[in-house]
Amino acid sequence: MTLDARIPSGPITEKWDRHKFDMKLVNPANKRKYTIIVVGTGLAGASAAASLGELGYNVLNFCIQDSPRRAHSIAAQGGINAAKNYQNDGDSVYRLFYDTVKGGDYRSREANVYRLAQLSVNIIDQCVAQGVPFAREYGGLLDNRSFGGAQVSRTFYARGQTGQQLLLGAYQSLMRQVHEKNVKLFARREMLDVVVVDGKARGIICRNLTTGELERHVGDAVILATGGYGTAYYLSTNAVNSNVTAAWRAHKRGALFANPCYTQIHPTCIPVTGDHQSKLTLMSESLRNDGRVWVPKQKGDTRPPEQIPEDERDYYLERKYPSFGNLVPRDVASRNAKQMADEGRGVGESGLAVYLDFKDAIQRLGVETIKEKYGNLFQMYQKITDEDAYKKPMRIYPAIHYTMGGLWVDYNLMSNLPGLHVLGEANFSDHGANRLGASALMQRRLLRHPVHDRPLPREQHTAEDHHGSCGLRRRRGQRAVADRQTARREGQPRHPRNPPRARAHSLGRRRHGADGSEPEARARGDSEAARRVLARRLGARHARQPESES
Ligand SMILES: Cc1cc2nc3c(=O)[nH]c(=O)nc-3n(C[C@H](O)[C@H](O)[C@H](O)COP(=O)(O)OP(=O)(O)OC[C@H]3O[C@@H](n4cnc5c(N)ncnc54)[C@H](O)[C@@H]3O)c2cc1C
Repeated sequence: MTLDARIPSGPITEKWDRHKFDMKLVNPANKRKYTIIVVGTGLAGASAAASLGELGYNVLNFCIQDSPRRAHSIAAQGGINAAKNYQNDGDSVYRLFYDTVKGGDYRSREANVYRLAQLSVNIIDQCVAQGVPFAREYGGLLDNRSFGGAQVSRTFYARGQTGQQLLLGAYQSLMRQVHEKNVKLFARREMLDVVVVDGKARGIICRNLTTGELERHVGDAVILATGGYGTAYYLSTNAVNSNVTAAWRAHKRGALFANPCYTQIHPTCIPVTGDHQSKLTLMSESLRNDGRVWVPKQKGDTRPPEQIPEDERDYYLERKYPSFGNLVPRDVASRNAKQMADEGRGVGESGLAVYLDFKDAIQRLGVETIKEKYGNLFQMYQKITDEDAYKKPMRIYPAIHYTMGGLWVDYNLMSNLPGLHVLGEANFSDHGANRLGASALMQRRLLRHPVHDRPLPREQHTAEDHHGSCGLRRRRGQRAVADRQTARREGQPRHPRNPPRARAHSLGRRRHGADGSEPEARARGDSEAARRVLARRLGARHARQPESES
């Protein structure tokens, strides 16, 4: 068998543009004639289904959970990378490409990685246009933080809930297509097999998890976006539902599996506490921005952390890797933690843990800043361990996290089984032996198309959406009302109902696609651009005001 990756010819910087131009287009009237099956509603599946629906194809979308919103992407915490260079710290598309290839141990498919880095820039604009509430700096610009293995700050985040917020955004686009009747949703279905006719993938067999019945569904192409196989190791940071059945069945039907040994070990998970657990809980890598990793210098030191003086602590990552410090790549941090435990310097009851200490950061920045950045992670840690990480260092240890191997795909993300495409963590494509963070979410969102970022018209929401998109907007509305009431109570001058900048921002979002006239500026909440949009739309009266009101 010959595996043809179908990488377009030409310089790496031009491959994707050329390829898009060379691809045959399908006329809008013909798109309606095709049915595409998308299995999975995580970031990869929901994005693909919404995009294809918007393009005009008939899409059948399946997931195991009772709602697409419960796909495992919701668990992603730390952030999503993009080469926006908002921090002006030397980032560029080429640097993201370079870091990802290096972070993948030079085993990635470079054409794919370049495309990923190129498209990362649009992905953030599209997410913002969908209403994903990324963290912003005081001035309103999108904020960034650093992740292991990178010396620039390029990770966009929404506290420690980035995956959840991204998934709600993708879900809103998906539900809009469901209401437009371009996508038909099949929740609580487990795909059991791929149907292959004359060597081509033509459908799926799945079990209806409510009735127990077997169902068959026919399509012109099948897309698997069914997540990774971390649970093959039993204890991992993945949900137990991420069970890899779909990819395995496709493999049994002839789709090849590539690089199954490429498994990312995440250095900051809550240590195992016994044999009662079915999964492990991740503590986001972003914590290493402010937390310092250490163990006692002496073997077998069982004193509680607060009784170990500074000069008897070994900040081993800072000592061994001064230029990256605590933000070394994941494999390096994991290997070193294991080495410390093997040397007998591990901490906690089992000795299989190291400390992640926020004392210095709290002294430097204040507890409120740390709460703002990582509050929900600290809360999660407390719920699981009953320890207050504001007062006592967290205990962390490496765990199986993310799988870079998966079903082999070509540049078009099609497996060697014609008609079977594989997206997201289920495929092997972009990262090689990736040791970096925040690049998985970026890859999941690749198949987005700018035009889908219009939210569902209000009257079309159903009870099914209620707790997701509507709930999110309702909460934002409630927050705005509360802010106005507080301002009034505190005797501040009365603002117009929507402050001009925010209004211009939302107008821009509503009336232009993400490829509209000033996407970058709008994504950053740039007040100049907002003023220009406003001046065009509402006249100069409002447009002159923002400065005095902000
Ligand atoms: C705890 C945690 C934190 C993470 N944090 C980050 C981060 O900060 N930044 C980052 O870039 N990456 C992060 N990742 C990685 C990233 O979240 C995942 O790689 C990504 O979300 C996977 O998306 P997906 O759409 O490919 O799969 P998933 O979100 O896993 O979705 C799989 C979908 O397929 C469906 N499915 C699976 N099998 C079947 C079947 N047999 N039949 C029908 N449906 C099926 C499921 O129902 C689900 O809808 C994190 C991962 C974990 C586990």
